[in-house]
Amino acid sequence: MIKKLIRRILGTKQKNGDTSKAVVLTAKEHRIDPKLVSANAVRVTSTLQQAGFKAFLVGGAVRDLLLGVKPKDFDIATNATPEQVKRLFRRAFIIGKRFQIVHVMFGQDLLEVTTFRGTSTDAAPKDEHGRVLRDNTFGEQHEDALRRDFTINAMYYDPATQTVLDYHGGMADIRNKTLRIIGVPEARYREDPVRMLRVVRFAAKLNFVIDPATSAPIRVMAPLINNVPAARVFDEMLKLLMSGSALACLQQLRKEGLHHGLLPLLDVVLEQPLGEKFVRLALASTDERVKQGKPVSPGFLFASLLWHQVLEKWKAYQAAGEYPIPALHLAADDVLNTQTDKLALQRKIASDMRDIWAMQPRFERRIGKSPYKLLEHLRMRAGYDFLLLRCASGEIDSEIGIWWTAFMEADGPGREALLAKKPSSTAEAAPAKKRPRRRRSRSAGGSAGGTAKTE
Ligand code: ATP
Ligand code: MG
Repeated sequence: MIKKLIRRILGTKQKNGDTSKAVVLTAKEHRIDPKLVSANAVRVTSTLQQAGFKAFLVGGAVRDLLLGVKPKDFDIATNATPEQVKRLFRRAFIIGKRFQIVHVMFGQDLLEVTTFRGTSTDAAPKDEHGRVLRDNTFGEQHEDALRRDFTINAMYYDPATQTVLDYHGGMADIRNKTLRIIGVPEARYREDPVRMLRVVRFAAKLNFVIDPATSAPIRVMAPLINNVPAARVFDEMLKLLMSGSALACLQQLRKEGLHHGLLPLLDVVLEQPLGEKFVRLALASTDERVKQGKPVSPGFLFASLLWHQVLEKWKAYQAAGEYPIPALHLAADDVLNTQTDKLALQRKIASDMRDIWAMQPRFERRIGKSPYKLLEHLRMRAGYDFLLLRCASGEIDSEIGIWWTAFMEADGPGREALLAKKPSSTAEAAPAKKRPRRRRSRSAGGSAGGTAKTE
């Protein structure tokens, strides 16, 4: 068993021999369609090359090109230092203190240019769990390849000669649809636990299988993600959720045992039939939007993922004697506070989430001026889409969604007619049952600001 594992770990090396030399693939072999390469990316590589430097497209762009997909962005790797790169372009900015990269801009188009990194991870400062904190040494191209995460992400394409340099058998893995980490998996995850999330994202998005040696340590090493700065985990989660394969990604996260603790209680939600259906529907519609090139709001996404936690707490607060609206705000606070530690939900996203949740009871008030006021709400569309998801998941009567669709489409008299028509689910038309108001024991520190005034 152990022997087999060691063989697997060493598999890549044995197969490809010396990883300091690249296999050179010609256009005939790799079949990249040059038309899929952005003109600006070629401008950057040729400018660098004319100045005497090496320059290649690298990473996800090459992977996508090899898969016949138009890359969404182009990263460029070079042996020029950030300063040397900056001097060659009119609009170029060095960013990042720890990992310096150069942003080259042409109009709205942004290209990231990185200098080949060296392999000095032994000397690099690490946290107590072995996570590399800083490592900004420059190196040779083969060292740069060795530091990349997966074999399919470690290929270099030169648009001028139309050749691909492959150091780690990436081409074979593309053909076999396999995700394989470069080097010893345990060591690579320890250096950077986010790579575990990246495996899952790429496997789900590309519909690749994870090589057994690459996936084996994940279950055990998953808790290391907790030591990664929350903002970085959030960025990676967002990429995952906006990949166009969010549903598949979450399923893969569960399969790899990575979902625990990432979105606290998400596992619980996914295990409740109603919650799971809601999350499924939300992610399926997000995936659809991404595939159609439509914008997706992170606020909506996270509001959906966490709704059933809010719902549960909302019910609990009401059972404890709170009025519905303040109870909802308290529930939102609880959920957002728990998430913020882990995920560093940005303020804007958290406030969008709160807006979407807070609108939900307002959809139930289909009397007087209330629906008209709601139409003017800045987030009406998001709130309404959210309402439809609640209907579709069976959480609330679908009649309410149908009513709102009709109300939004109707003209003035049509709207009046709809308002005059008594809704078939009459709960909202009845006056709220008065409950004895409880004194709130929570400190005023929560961000519920303005709960009382919404009553
Ligand atoms: P996409 O942009 O489609 O999500 P990508 O592979 O381009 O995928 P990026 O995050 O843009 O992903 O990273 C660019 C490249 O940088 C990767 O292809 C990989 O070679 C390298 N890279 C990124 N993150 C890591 C990491 N955590 N460890 C090692 N290499 C990485
Ligand atoms: Mg990329």
